[in-house]
Amino acid sequence: MSEFPVRRRLLLSCGCCALTALATDAAATGSGAPEDWRASLLRDKRELWLLRDGEELRTTYWTAKAGFNRDEYLNLCWFLRDKHAGRVFAMDRNLLDLLCGVQAWLGRNGHAMPIQINSAYRTMATNRTIEGAARNSQHILGRAADIVVPGVSPVKLAGMASLFGRGGTGFYVGREFVHVDTGAERIWIDQKRRAS
Ligand SMILES: [Zn+2]
Repeated sequence: MSEFPVRRRLLLSCGCCALTALATDAAATGSGAPEDWRASLLRDKRELWLLRDGEELRTTYWTAKAGFNRDEYLNLCWFLRDKHAGRVFAMDRNLLDLLCGVQAWLGRNGHAMPIQINSAYRTMATNRTIEGAARNSQHILGRAADIVVPGVSPVKLAGMASLFGRGGTGFYVGREFVHVDTGAERIWIDQKRRAS
């Protein structure tokens, strides 16, 4: 497993990625600090458009005017549940914001697509059944999701997530999904493990 302590390495490693280049340009030429353009995507309202196993959820879970919508948050927690165990968990709101930021940025750049959720919350029992899953996986804390965006390569998606996340980003050679979480900041490219 290759693991890098800083997200810059991943940005450099996929310099051919147009989306990452766009984001880097935005960071460099935006009206203020790099955080400004990211924050601007979350400033007024926070929406998510998710797909999972044929189900679809479109939600506005936060607005500047009303704050968090409890019902929509609960809908999201249900959508991101451990389907194998039938358990719902209080998902980390920062994870929702990470997903929202990535999706909003893609939409702003002409790629309005749902995020496909392969896995999100996992009980410890479910996590143990996942080949290669870390015992202390952020999934068991409701802080991680394995995601796919149609038309966006895993490398591009990982690059985007590393810009918006304050946690971990990983992708797996030969697999289509990207792991994102709000745990410790780290990036990895895994050529063997199937999940985290
Ligand atoms: Zn994962």
